[in-house]
Amino acid sequence: MSNKPMILVVEDDAAIRNLMAVTLDTQGYRYHLARNGAEALIEATTHQPDVMLLDLGLPDMEGVDIIRKVRGWTSLPIIVISARSEDADKVEALDAGADDYLTKPFSVDEMLARLRVALRRVNAEQQAPNRESALYENGSLRIDYAAGCAYMGEQEIHLTPIEYKLLCLLAKNTGKVLTHNYILKEIWGSYTASDVGSLRVFMAMLRKKLQAGDGAQPFIQTHIGIGYRMLRMDRSAEDAP
Ligand code: CA
Repeated sequence: MSNKPMILVVEDDAAIRNLMAVTLDTQGYRYHLARNGAEALIEATTHQPDVMLLDLGLPDMEGVDIIRKVRGWTSLPIIVISARSEDADKVEALDAGADDYLTKPFSVDEMLARLRVALRRVNAEQQAPNRESALYENGSLRIDYAAGCAYMGEQEIHLTPIEYKLLCLLAKNTGKVLTHNYILKEIWGSYTASDVGSLRVFMAMLRKKLQAGDGAQPFIQTHIGIGYRMLRMDRSAEDAP
């Protein structure tokens, strides 16, 4: 009987798979290994992992199809791993429901940091299963959804309606990387490539207002060419990249 988190590693490259397994083992995680998409789906259904580390370049299946299938029955965090430097693959995977990504080659420290972020999201959801909770708290940031107000410490942050909507969207997905496309669709209902420029401007304004209230805590992380993520501040900044 163990409460150690269970990690599913999906990777066809034996050397990388072994390195990941050894790393997880030394850190006290439990794990299962899958070498291809078919095994990944079997392992995901039989072992109910807490987090899935998914290589996008598998011999038998597109990684993005695995994400879509897995998302059919579970919201477990999925961290995709891509050898390809193309942002398009990551964006497609994130839009399909992945939480985060690692680019090969990655360090084991980076992998462990991303795992901790993913596990925190799971823990936060388990502790607050009522997602319609009226209050959001993250470090000194507070959002009162009922009142439609945001605060940094005791100070109200004065936001435009768009900035407030952006903040709420990021807050409700704390720990997850949200793509430009996803944000544009959620906030404006539609998007074109040129809207990313406006989004960047709104995000810069929002970030400035968040930082003005309380020193320099970087709540919103930028993923260049991909999107944004709200970081969880509650317990130290150990996961800041
Ligand atoms: Ca591969």
